[in-house]
Amino acid sequence: MTFSFDAAALANRATSALRAYDPGHDLPALRRRFGAVIAELGSNENPLGPSPRARAAAASALDEVWRYPDPLGASLKRALSAAEGVPVSGITLGNGSHELLMLLAQCFADAEHPVVHSQFGFAVFPIAAAAAGAPSLAVPALPADHPEAPYGHDLDALASAVTANTRLVYLANPNNPTGTWFGDAALETFLGKMPADTIVVVDEAYHEYVDASGLSTAVRFLDRFPNLVVTRTFSKAYALAGLRIGYMLSHPSVAAVCERLRESFNVNGVALAAAEAALGDRDYLARVRETNRVDRAWLADALSARGFRVLPSQTNFLLLDLGRDAAAFEAHLFERGVIVRPMVGYRLPHTVRVSVGSRAELDRLLEHLP
Ligand SMILES: *Cc1c(COP(=O)(O)O)cnc(C)c1O
Repeated sequence: MTFSFDAAALANRATSALRAYDPGHDLPALRRRFGAVIAELGSNENPLGPSPRARAAAASALDEVWRYPDPLGASLKRALSAAEGVPVSGITLGNGSHELLMLLAQCFADAEHPVVHSQFGFAVFPIAAAAAGAPSLAVPALPADHPEAPYGHDLDALASAVTANTRLVYLANPNNPTGTWFGDAALETFLGKMPADTIVVVDEAYHEYVDASGLSTAVRFLDRFPNLVVTRTFSKAYALAGLRIGYMLSHPSVAAVCERLRESFNVNGVALAAAEAALGDRDYLARVRETNRVDRAWLADALSARGFRVLPSQTNFLLLDLGRDAAAFEAHLFERGVIVRPMVGYRLPHTVRVSVGSRAELDRLLEHLP
């Protein structure tokens, strides 16, 4: 029997306004086509992979997959609490920090309480707002020729856009896809301007990679600003993207509200074990940071020497501003097994984002640049 049925017409109002996430290329198919020679520079993964201790912890946790994981993630939370100086009651774990960004909007934003973010802020921010049925305001970014943070967050403009009704502000520091950042002093000033009832979320997905002077972490302001929330992830520097685990540091009351909507077993046991082991391997993380610091500078120099405009970055990727549509550039590399990420979805069609991959991958990129 055939009949016509289209659930698109049945989606609720919030979902009707959304489109599915664009994952970029079909990477499994590309790996089959190009084999090991493919240079995957599109997803900001850590080419060194996870700490050997995290791999071992994940492997032994496989013996327990027939059990439900610890719904509280208590052991990892204790380790995070010790590492960050935040009480366990102020820690929430997520199936990636993406889930936590969504959860915050679901718990706090609605049609009367909008969300504010920067124009070229992380793509999840407006999606989180839309999924919660909340209006979101994209505040114009800093100009393309800004000396420190081209296309970056304009904190003054963001502060001016916030009203007493604004329930959430999402900031990413450093930001994806721009790689730009703002310093601790600028954040402190911004927090001082916020209404008491506006929750400021600082997404620090790339925190472990930062080394600029004047930039540490928003965590240092948690005690003074109870409306501040910091999200982090194990996907980037800790190289556990495939296990999906992130965390949020906040006032305990924010965590308590999020507990109401959090799925009870949102983080799996393999991820919990691997993350705790990864967190404990400080030497490995130091190596990851150092490798990225050296290779990021090396790649930026190599690209600049070839005439490309490379934006400043405190992350494990670089944004290239080609000054013209990037589609042909991207297609040229794609045909040669070099995957970079076009930024059309961010309305930055003249830019591409390039991860700081392995030296072999970066050599391949440089060899095939058009
Ligand atoms: C990669 C990324 C995340 C989240 O990743 P998860 O894998 O969901 O933890 C969050 N924010 C930014 C800015 C990112 O680039």
